[in-house]
Order: sequence, then C-alpha cells, then structure tokens
Amino acid sequence: MERKKRMDSSLREIVDDLKSYLEYLQGMGIEGLPLSLPSEPGLKEVREELGDCKRCKLHRTRKTLVFGEGNEKAILLLVGEGPGYEEDIQGRPFVGKAGQLLTKILQSIQLEREEVYIANIVKCRPPQNRNPEPEEVQACRPFLLKQIQVLQPKIICALGSVAAQSLLQTGEKITALRGRSFDFDGIRVVPTYHPAYLLRNPERKREVWEDMKRIAEWLKEAKISG
Ligand code: URA
Repeated sequence: MERKKRMDSSLREIVDDLKSYLEYLQGMGIEGLPLSLPSEPGLKEVREELGDCKRCKLHRTRKTLVFGEGNEKAILLLVGEGPGYEEDIQGRPFVGKAGQLLTKILQSIQLEREEVYIANIVKCRPPQNRNPEPEEVQACRPFLLKQIQVLQPKIICALGSVAAQSLLQTGEKITALRGRSFDFDGIRVVPTYHPAYLLRNPERKREVWEDMKRIAEWLKEAKISG
C-alpha cells in the first residue's frame, strides 16, 4: 500500500512536470508537438541541396544538370564519367549510344534500368566530352557520396577509368583495375570498361561480360543474405 502511494505521487510529479513544460511551450507560442521525428534525407533532398549548382565551371557550358536516375532501393549502382551530348540535352544519364549499349549489358544479366541506379562522377557535361578535371570531380564528389549514402548499394560498378580512379582514389589504369573488386566503405566496387570504349573496341566485350557475370553472382548472394 505504502509502495503504491509512493508510485502514485511520483507519477503525479511526472504529470505535473510535463503539464508545466507544455504550458511553457504554449507560452512560447508552440501549439502542437511534431507527430514524427525528422526522417533521413533521401535522393530528393540530395537533389534539392545540389540546386542550380555552380560549384565548378562546368555549369557555364552545361544545358542540363544530370543528377542520376533509377531505383532508390537498387542494390546495384552504376557510375559513369559524366554526361555526354545527349545526356546534357535530356538531363538523364546514359541515354546516348553508350547508354543503349549499357542497357543491353544490363539486360544480359536479366536487369532492367529501372531496377538499378545510374549516376556519374560529374553531373554536368565537360565541354567536347573531355575528361573532368580534378577540381570538377572534387566539387561533385560530396553529392555522389550522398547518393551512395542514401542508396546503400551492395555493389558499385565503376564504368571506365575516370569512374574507377575517382571512386577508388587511385591512379591505376583501368586495364589493371578491371577483373578485380575493391571495398568502398563496405560496398563492393567492380571496375569495368566504359560502354563508349566498347563501342570503339568491341573485342573487349568479352571481359565486360565476365565482369557482369560476377556482378550477377554477387547480387544473387546479396539478395539471399538480405
Ligand atoms: N558517358 C558517361 O560516362 N555517362 C553518361 O551519362 C553518358 C555517357
């Protein structure tokens, strides 16, 4: 009985404290409490933060910023170098000739573009499709990292030397990087040849096919282990 009285009085104290806290908030003009805690940022928030980006000089010559597209729940992220002519016009990654080949490469392992996410090292087209300069890569990097943070893919397929070297922060050639896989904060990075390079060197398709088969195996394992 004594114990119950003690509990009643501590409960009353808590309720009184809460009541005076709510009265205090009301006095400050706060009429309601939020029903949910702020949620983790998603790709929409990353896009908003990027805004009408002018962080590097590529903004001066771009037509459209190409943020990236695909499935927010994708476990495979493909990263290219940067938008080309067609991508710059359409505002979508890999929609030109190289993009059409990429779509076919994905289909060779039973994947549709809608199931994966596709992004680039830089989000604005370098003039005349030159390689992006180190300052441009640096300026864009935080946003690619934020996209990776949101997506949390199991595998990143780095398309071509610019993507592989920038992601892995290495100067090693793509010929030395492909055929291997690397750890990037717990994510497996698989470098392979860029589809545009394959258009010029179709004899290299076999190696990309080997890489894609390995990716398909790892994706299967990742799906099984959830
Ligand atoms: N090449 C790339 O690296 N990215 C694109 O989006 C298109 C072509």
